[in-house]
Amino acid sequence: MNNRCVLVAGGAGYIGSHTAVELINAGYEVVVVDNFSNSDASSLDGIERITGVRPTFVEVDCCDKEALGEVFERYDFSSAIHFAAFKAVGESVAKPAMYYRNNLLSLLNLVELMSEYGRENIVFSSSATVYGDADVLPVTELTPRKPATSPYGNTKQMSEDILRDNVAASDKLRGIALRYFNPIGAHPSAQIGELPRGVPNNLVPYITQTAAGIRECLSIFGDDYDTPDGSCLRDYIDIVDLARAHVVAIDRMVAKLSEERYEVFNIGTGRPVSVFELVKGFEQANNLKLNYRVAARRAGDVTAVWADTTRANEVLGWRAERELSDTLKAAWQWERNVRGIKE
Ligand code: UDP
Repeated sequence: MNNRCVLVAGGAGYIGSHTAVELINAGYEVVVVDNFSNSDASSLDGIERITGVRPTFVEVDCCDKEALGEVFERYDFSSAIHFAAFKAVGESVAKPAMYYRNNLLSLLNLVELMSEYGRENIVFSSSATVYGDADVLPVTELTPRKPATSPYGNTKQMSEDILRDNVAASDKLRGIALRYFNPIGAHPSAQIGELPRGVPNNLVPYITQTAAGIRECLSIFGDDYDTPDGSCLRDYIDIVDLARAHVVAIDRMVAKLSEERYEVFNIGTGRPVSVFELVKGFEQANNLKLNYRVAARRAGDVTAVWADTTRANEVLGWRAERELSDTLKAAWQWERNVRGIKE
């Protein structure tokens, strides 16, 4: 079994591709599996342009256990990261069965194969959504999870539990769930980034597409929340910082640094930023004006959530480093690169 080799399930996607880059930069060998359901092969080219290394790639749907099993037969990675999940809240409400099937089955297959093949370490992509509308802010890993408000959020809670229970039942498996806050930005090289299909749901891709003229006007969902400027507060984490957290998590499990074989960490900046602040920050960082208007609140949005990152800082030795303005510059550079927009 090779401790320097990592399976990255969903490695052609937004967070997966950035993580593949950081793993390669840290000296890991990377095996990417992806079914391109919400990504395409161009991200593999981007990874290669940045690192000089093309990760091994196998086109596999992680819900297909037999096909995923063949990857275990062929490659001897000791660790795996599970990014292969659907992530659109609204779509999950419309198509719950599709979300439960894809997000849970892919993880179950991975966990079972890890045990069957004696592989040891899994990082799971969890989410701040597990906290729901928290009573006390910032949230720590001990903040009670609230009942999920969407099938998507429920798959994150259920997946954490699936991983926790399987680690508990094994004497060898280790698991780390990383609860991401709001991942944004792109690699500073502008070679990889977020490529949403259709109309973006998330704030930053909507902003960059508006700046690029693809969307006419950004709607700010609500200015009457109980916050300093009336818009929602979130914790926006740079994608490269987030990607590095996965490398640290893998390092920690490979070195068996922890007594606990299942651990949970918040991955954010610890700083609340409002929608208005983010929009102004984008305008300033990129020296442009954005077309926006205030619209009604979006159903399901919580007023505020941000991370207490003490545990990740002290236990993982990880912290967010990139300045928000640099992150917002990178987001715009990536959008321009994708659309072929000159200076
Ligand atoms: N948001 C907005 N306009 C948009 C998309 C998002 O005002 O077109 C707001 C949304 O209400 C929330 C914040 O931006 O307060 C972040 O939303 P996003 O969907 O990016 O992430 P979420 O926190 O919902 O996971």
